Amino acid sequence: LTSNDAIEEHRICVCVRARPLNKKELSVKDLDVITIPSKDVVMVHEPKQKVDLTRYLENQTFRFDYAFDRNSTNEMVYRFTAQPLVETIFERGMATCFAYGQTGSGKTHTMGGDFSGKNQDCSKGIYALSARDVFLMLKKPVYKKLDLQVFATFFEIYSGKVFDLLNRKAKLRVLEDGKQQVQVVGLQEREVKCTEDVLKLIEMGNSCRTSGQTSANAHSSRSHAVFQIILRRRGKMHGKFSLIDLAGNERGADTSSADRQTRLEGAEINKSLLALKECIRALGRNKPHTPFRASKLTQVLRDSFIGENSRTCMIATISPGMASCENTLNTLRYANRMKHL
Ligand code: ADP
Ligand code: MG
Repeated sequence: LTSNDAIEEHRICVCVRARPLNKKELSVKDLDVITIPSKDVVMVHEPKQKVDLTRYLENQTFRFDYAFDRNSTNEMVYRFTAQPLVETIFERGMATCFAYGQTGSGKTHTMGGDFSGKNQDCSKGIYALSARDVFLMLKKPVYKKLDLQVFATFFEIYSGKVFDLLNRKAKLRVLEDGKQQVQVVGLQEREVKCTEDVLKLIEMGNSCRTSGQTSANAHSSRSHAVFQIILRRRGKMHGKFSLIDLAGNERGADTSSADRQTRLEGAEINKSLLALKECIRALGRNKPHTPFRASKLTQVLRDSFIGENSRTCMIATISPGMASCENTLNTLRYANRMKHL
């Protein structure tokens, strides 16, 4: 490893998280095909059949910075992914944390919190845990004397359009000035003084995200949600942490759907996830051909991918069932490309 490689390694952290089999999977006797034999290895045991119809398991192994198994908690995942990035924004840097995976694999559970029960609890998600630590860091004497203010934004990108989740889903325009500075015009940036303030905004944004939907997942699986914590000093941006719950990556089938709108959405999602991969791979290197403009997602995150002090982490979430094997392998291959430049 040259020292340059070491810096790259440090900039991009890629992890995988497998959830437990859920009730639905258990009820149809789906099998768990994932094993995590050590803290950074994940194995997929894909059932296959030979021409003579004998069955066998094809084992595929992937190595990441960390692999979290079905017993891992959000707090544990947080500690190795987003938590190290909190300091980055105090040191005038840009941090991003993505949850990537198929619908139902645990992206929202990881980022937003636990919404499975009646009591929706966003306090255990990575959004809230990051906010908690931002306020803890603010108390440290070295940062206290900087007199920083904390703001939050929460928006959604759906079919290439931006909607403000803190302002009744107002549709917003994205402008790029001559210096390639990107601005989301009119985006609500709310000042927050404590973790409680942040929890309220997350709740508000979440209910806005799912309102008016016949099925909450139908819509959220097709949109990227972006939650940002912004530090300002005398009005000027000091650092920014963007936490993103990406659209489901299983859209391949949609691109051949009979419904035109569905097809367009599918194509848009594929495009944005491909552009994202390229932008992360080019992180901090100011490559001339980085496709920031190829999608709304990468365009609005542009300033997070450039600059000396940009860091990112990707949490690839996977469903453990045999029925999800193909999507799981696609997710792991995508994440793998991120790590091995
Ligand atoms: P996604 O956002 O990727 O579509 P969700 O986060 O909504 O997926 O997760 C789908 C379901 O699985 C939810 O009911 C969620 O509570 C549950 N779930 C996800 N991850 C875990 C986990 N690590 N442990 C337990 N339940 C989980
Ligand atoms: Mg979700």
